[in-house]
Amino acid sequence: VIAPGFTGSPLDRADRLRHDEAALAAVVADPASRLLCEAALDPEVAGDRLVWTGLDALRDGAQPLLLGLIDGVAHFVASHPDDRAAVRTPELMQRLATLRREDAATYAAARSLVDWHARHRFCSVCGNGTHIFRAGWGRHCPVCGADHFPRTDPVVIMIAEHRGRALLGRQPSFPPGRYSALAGFLEPGESIEEAVAREIVEESGIRVGNVRYIASQPWPFPSSLMIACVADAENDDIVLDPHELEDAMWVSREEVRAVLAGEPGRFLAPPPYAIAHTLLTVWAQG
Ligand SMILES: [Zn+2]
Repeated sequence: VIAPGFTGSPLDRADRLRHDEAALAAVVADPASRLLCEAALDPEVAGDRLVWTGLDALRDGAQPLLLGLIDGVAHFVASHPDDRAAVRTPELMQRLATLRREDAATYAAARSLVDWHARHRFCSVCGNGTHIFRAGWGRHCPVCGADHFPRTDPVVIMIAEHRGRALLGRQPSFPPGRYSALAGFLEPGESIEEAVAREIVEESGIRVGNVRYIASQPWPFPSSLMIACVADAENDDIVLDPHELEDAMWVSREEVRAVLAGEPGRFLAPPPYAIAHTLLTVWAQG
């Protein structure tokens, strides 16, 4: 079973509640409904669980966004007009790594949604202020009538394979020793296969074909969809783009298996909540 990080939330997204104002008002008023405890999107965590409170804890001026139902109980996160785009700190990533998988996935949905509202207060068509509708899953412009919906940015992340070896690279921003799959944003007018081939050849000079999809993962920093693929390399002479990568190298299956098992090797593996870890695990298993 392939189970990337930030997937597996138990949320029932309850689309019908987004369109039924009376039913939504009833769950907002229900004392059993839960609100995510967070400050500037740093979640409160107890052990491996997110901490929730009642909706009476909503700050003045904040609006509840409906994440969905868990075991029939409505779960919300708050959006406030003073919210700013969220920052991602090393401390946050450490805290997320301690969360059980389903809570990390619920947090990912909450974070991307709140952050989208913080970045989209104004209409991208006419520039006027917009307001929240559909229980938090849209913003409406009262001036030009445009409706805006939360977006997800697709990113391809991939391994080029050459005679049983995988191409890994490191960006200057990575922690010391870390190598990972190459990655990049899809551009308008590209298929997933085309983006994979373009990114690999741009960053490493390696030409690929036969792109295969492996798995995907929501990445809430702020709102990407990571699409993991494997492709066959036609050459193995690496030509680095120094603006993108500090180094790249070919690693064998044995090396990847050893590093994933925690043994010392030429590189450190990506963290388990990153889909690059999932991708390497799948590839190492052949
Ligand atoms: Zn407008």
